[in-house]
Amino acid sequence: MFHSQWTNKNSMRKHIVAGNWKMNGTLEATQKLASEVVNMYNDEVKDGTEVVMIPPYIGIQEVQRLAKGSGVKVGAQNCHQEESGAYTGEVSAGILASWSLDYVIIGHSERREYFGENNALLAQKVDQSLRHNLAPIYCCGETLEEREGNKHFEVIEKQVSEGLFHLNADQIQKTVIAYEPVWAIGTGKTASAEQAQEIHAFIRSLLAKRFTETVAAEISILYGGSVKPGNAKELFSMEDIDGGLIGGAALQSRDFIDIAKSF
Ligand code: PEP
Repeated sequence: MFHSQWTNKNSMRKHIVAGNWKMNGTLEATQKLASEVVNMYNDEVKDGTEVVMIPPYIGIQEVQRLAKGSGVKVGAQNCHQEESGAYTGEVSAGILASWSLDYVIIGHSERREYFGENNALLAQKVDQSLRHNLAPIYCCGETLEEREGNKHFEVIEKQVSEGLFHLNADQIQKTVIAYEPVWAIGTGKTASAEQAQEIHAFIRSLLAKRFTETVAAEISILYGGSVKPGNAKELFSMEDIDGGLIGGAALQSRDFIDIAKSF
């Protein structure tokens, strides 16, 4: 198995389980899911694991209301790259930060694919979120075609370096990275724990080269792609996997919390 020489599971790296609700969440479903997650989190999740709910923009305020005082964090699925202005339908990082959000997902593969977001644009979004003290969860991951063509290392290196390597050490330490192989998202096909570990260790080695070994050892790298209660333990036991970005299973409170208990 590929180990990064910079790994240290005993470091101060945060364990994070973030639930990306995508375009799901009527008012009623939002209230039910958020209150169940908060109650189960309080009763069952041990200190030290950060649990994040990431609903559509319109559900954020209600989720925050229900999560208040619980320790469960709340994030957004996207932000605009500009500070403010005439961008109808968009939401800036500054607006999100003013609502006291903790995280924002940047560069999810669905944004890259359906909304044409490229690394240069995503670098601007990362800058905006950091400017407003919102921790970006920067997503990267190869398609099936890229993996089958043995291009996955090249693709990941390009996504990570073009999206994040303009940052300084302080900024990168506030950033979370999510490795999400596109072929494993919403398909029921999970990368094996070894495949995921290999890429996580590779990402950490890139970070160590660009920044320092100490900085690289502190950055949480999440895995995403059909994570379920049945495979989370094995994935999270890998030395460079610090948690998960969860799609489908985040819509079931029981599954989501069971995943958060898998460290
Ligand atoms: C995701 O969309 O980030 C994701 C990982 O989805 P799923 O867990 O459904 O594969």
